[in-house]
Amino acid sequence: METVLGLYLHIPFCSAICNYCNFNRGLFDTALKTRYVAALEQEIRTEGERRGAPNADTLYFGGGTPSLLSADEVARLVRACLESFRVCDDAEITLEANPESVSAAQLAALREAGVTRLSFGVQSFLDEELVRLSRLHTADRVRRAVREARAAGFDNISLDLMMWLPGQTVEAWMTSVDEALALAPEHLSMYMLEVYPNAPLKDLMARAVWSQAPDDDVAEMYEQALDRVGAAGYRQYEISNVARPGRASRHNMKYWSDGAWLGFGCGAHSTFDGCRWKNLSGTGEYIEAIGAGASTRVDVQELSADRRLGDALFTGLRVTEGVDIAALGRRYNTDVWARYGHELERYVDAGLLHVQPHRWTLTRPGMLLAHEVMSVFV
Ligand code: SF4
Repeated sequence: METVLGLYLHIPFCSAICNYCNFNRGLFDTALKTRYVAALEQEIRTEGERRGAPNADTLYFGGGTPSLLSADEVARLVRACLESFRVCDDAEITLEANPESVSAAQLAALREAGVTRLSFGVQSFLDEELVRLSRLHTADRVRRAVREARAAGFDNISLDLMMWLPGQTVEAWMTSVDEALALAPEHLSMYMLEVYPNAPLKDLMARAVWSQAPDDDVAEMYEQALDRVGAAGYRQYEISNVARPGRASRHNMKYWSDGAWLGFGCGAHSTFDGCRWKNLSGTGEYIEAIGAGASTRVDVQELSADRRLGDALFTGLRVTEGVDIAALGRRYNTDVWARYGHELERYVDAGLLHVQPHRWTLTRPGMLLAHEVMSVFV
C-alpha cells in the first residue's frame, strides 16, 4: 500500500509563555521568525527533493502559535510543500491559532493562502480560569474569532478545551463545554491539564491554594462532556477528540493509525520508512544547521517490527474503533494475541479493554486509565 504522508510544520513562537506550557516554544521575535521561516522553507524543499516528492494529504501548522506568522509567510510555506511533495487537491491544511492573535483580515488571507482548517486554543470559556492559566484571550475574544473565521469562509473549525483546571468544578467545566457547543465547531478536543513538576502554575497553585478536582470528579467531567457532545451530534473518535461526521482530524489520525509523517522545524518529530527521528530543539541551532547544510536530526531510531507493532497498538487503542489485530498481525508478521495477550488479560478482566477476535478497543473506563493499559506496549 502506498504511503500518504502528513506534513507537520512547527512554529515555535508565542506572544507570552503560559504558566502550564511544556511545549517547544519561545518568545516571539520578528527577526528570528523571519530567519526561521526561511530555514523551514529550505528544509521542506530539500527533504521533498531528496525523497522524490512523496504523496501527502495533510499539512499541519502546530506550535507555539502559528497564527503569529503573517498570511504571506503561511502562503510561502504552503507553496513550498505543494511544490516539493505530491499533495492531493483536497488536502487538509490545518493551522493552530490563538484567539487573541488573529484578525478578520488575517483570517481571510489565511483562507486565501490555502488553509482549510483552523484549530483554536480556547481552553476555557470562563475568564477567571483563563487568567489562572495566564492565557491572553477572553471568552468574548474566542466568540469573535470564530465569527471572523466563519466570515472568512472557514467551514472546518476545531476548538481545544482543557478540563481539570486548578479550582475547576464539574459545573464550571460543563459551562465551557456548553459555550463551545454554542459556537457549533466541526471538531472539539478535550484534554486534561497535566501540571508538570517545574511548571510556574504549580507554584502558583501552592501559593493560591488552588487544587485540581479529585479523581472521581475528573471522571465525571469526562463522562458528562462526552454525553453532552454526543447528544449534540458529535462522535467521539479518539480518547480526547470528537467531531461532526466526516470531520475527524485527518492529520492527527496518522499519529493514531500507524501512519507516516515528516515534521519540519525545531523539535519536530518524524516517522517514515521504518525510522523515527527528531529535529534539533533549539530555534537558533536549527536555523544554523539548516544554513550550514548540516543534519538537523537527533535521536534517529531504526524501528524493529516488534517496536512498530508495540507503537501501533499504543497509539491505535486511543481511537474509539480500536485496532484491527488481524491486519496488524499480517503487517508485522506476528500473532498479536500470543505476543501481548497474557499481559492484557488483567485489563480485560477489569473491564478496561474489550477483546474481539479481530479487534481490540478500550472501554470508556479504559479510556480514563489508558496510560495503564498502554504501558504494556512501551
Ligand atoms: S500559547 Fe500554547 S505553546 Fe504558547 S506558551 Fe501558551 S500553551 Fe505554550
